[in-house]
Amino acid sequence: MATIVRPEVVTYHQYIDGQWTDSDAGGTFDVINPSTEEVVATAPAGGRADAQRAIAAARRSFDDGEWRNQTQLQRSQTMFAIARHLQDRGDDWAMLEARTAGATIRKASVVDVPLAVETFRSMAEQALQIPWYEPLPWIDIPHVSWNFVQREAIGVCTGIVPFNFPLMIAMWKLAPALAMGNSIVLKPSPFTPLTLLEVARAIDETGLLPRGVLNVVTGPGDDLGEELVVNDDVDKVAFTGSTAVGRRILALAAPTIKRVTVELGGKSANIVCADADLDVAVDGTLFGTFFHQGQACESGHRVYVHDDIYDAFMERLVATAAALRVGDATDYDTQVGPVISRRQYDSILAAIDRAQAEGATLLCGGGRAGGAGDKGFFVQPTVLADVRPESHIATDEVFGPVLAVQRWSDPGDVVRRANRSIYGLAGGIWSRDTRGAIEMAKRLRTGTVWINDWHLLNALAPFGGYKQSGSGRELGAYGLREYTEVKHIHVDQNVPREDRHFYDVLLG
Ligand code: NAD
Repeated sequence: MATIVRPEVVTYHQYIDGQWTDSDAGGTFDVINPSTEEVVATAPAGGRADAQRAIAAARRSFDDGEWRNQTQLQRSQTMFAIARHLQDRGDDWAMLEARTAGATIRKASVVDVPLAVETFRSMAEQALQIPWYEPLPWIDIPHVSWNFVQREAIGVCTGIVPFNFPLMIAMWKLAPALAMGNSIVLKPSPFTPLTLLEVARAIDETGLLPRGVLNVVTGPGDDLGEELVVNDDVDKVAFTGSTAVGRRILALAAPTIKRVTVELGGKSANIVCADADLDVAVDGTLFGTFFHQGQACESGHRVYVHDDIYDAFMERLVATAAALRVGDATDYDTQVGPVISRRQYDSILAAIDRAQAEGATLLCGGGRAGGAGDKGFFVQPTVLADVRPESHIATDEVFGPVLAVQRWSDPGDVVRRANRSIYGLAGGIWSRDTRGAIEMAKRLRTGTVWINDWHLLNALAPFGGYKQSGSGRELGAYGLREYTEVKHIHVDQNVPREDRHFYDVLLG
């Protein structure tokens, strides 16, 4: 089979009901390489009619039951076989992630692709442990009955995916939905639709999924995305993206009382204690912030450094940050690639300017990084110190390689400041005192806390946000359960009418 990473502009199609199709209205949009600003591909600009076609296909496949009615073992075995096939295509996808999402090729090869495939496999494995039937104790009020809980697939799920981890976050939705017997319609970000379309192609090639169980539509959020939320035939929406759009999704889902999980923005606090191992804490802080150009939702952009180590820590942090190699994401030497778009580039530089106007001191970066000539959306890794707790750079999600530092000395005060945020996605603590760090972790109001680490999400552990960082969880058994309904079934034990005294409340 020909490699999928081709130099020419490639025309892609949506994947609906097992067919590759144009958009109903016939329009397309360009997919841009953020390192070069060149057009890599075109994809269909889907609208409401495309969403409706895909939802109808998913509905029919779910109602037919060809996937849903398989045993858990059959479904998991099918997914293991698909995972093996996906793994074989990993190198192509890593290059696509680099060319469209600006993921450095080293990150895409080492992190994105292997973890995405592992998530797919692991969800299928974990699903084998989720009980579909759970007996309840015998109930004898008002008379003896047999009761149990039956778990069921929800039905038609839709998954709306952001630009930053196109492959991995799509898998966080696809894998649990399939594992629990649902049908799904996925919509990637219009910036980064290609990898998911290639995943659909690879799955299609296996012939292992019944037609209509997986569908991928492409296009902007507005009509296409909103139809995936409001349509009566959709039973569950899994959205990952900004908090602003998340609020809109929740409002759109309200009239039909959809099951909804939203995984949203963050501004995570990174607390460096006086007893931290500086070698680990400096590099870990840089990794926690500049990995993927700071475009990971759970990045530790708010850094709190203890007074006692402030000077030593900052000297090393700034020296290392300033030496990071920024460049074309497809180059193996590149450590920091481009941000996703011109708009994002402009908003990051504006946030840096505003931070300085609000009193922050620029210690390194702050502007455009060289990159390839004047093309590409390259922002220098930026460190800002003397950040005021109430300033925008301390509170707002910037989604770029910008680290904002504050000092601290009192543990109660730093926890209070860390928690003073509308977000609650993640947090981190660097300390040699594990017990003290765990106590501090318990006081942070976030869905994940790393102690002496960052970014280490795991297919076994739940991921999601407190506060306005989201609602619901992905990954692990918690994530799988989000793709099921539970039904209580009560079975009478042939109690004769004369013993059913409670009927007499009405009839007696
Ligand atoms: P975004 O909210 O702009 O878009 C996300 C997706 O929603 C895209 O596919 C977009 O086309 C679609 N969309 C936009 N408007 C819509 C609408 N009205 N109805 C339906 N769909 C709509 O986010 P983005 O810029 O792609 O991603 C960055 C954001 O995502 C950041 O805020 C980041 O923190 C967040 N994020 C969160 C997590 C998490 O797990 N909590 C993970 C990754 C990214």
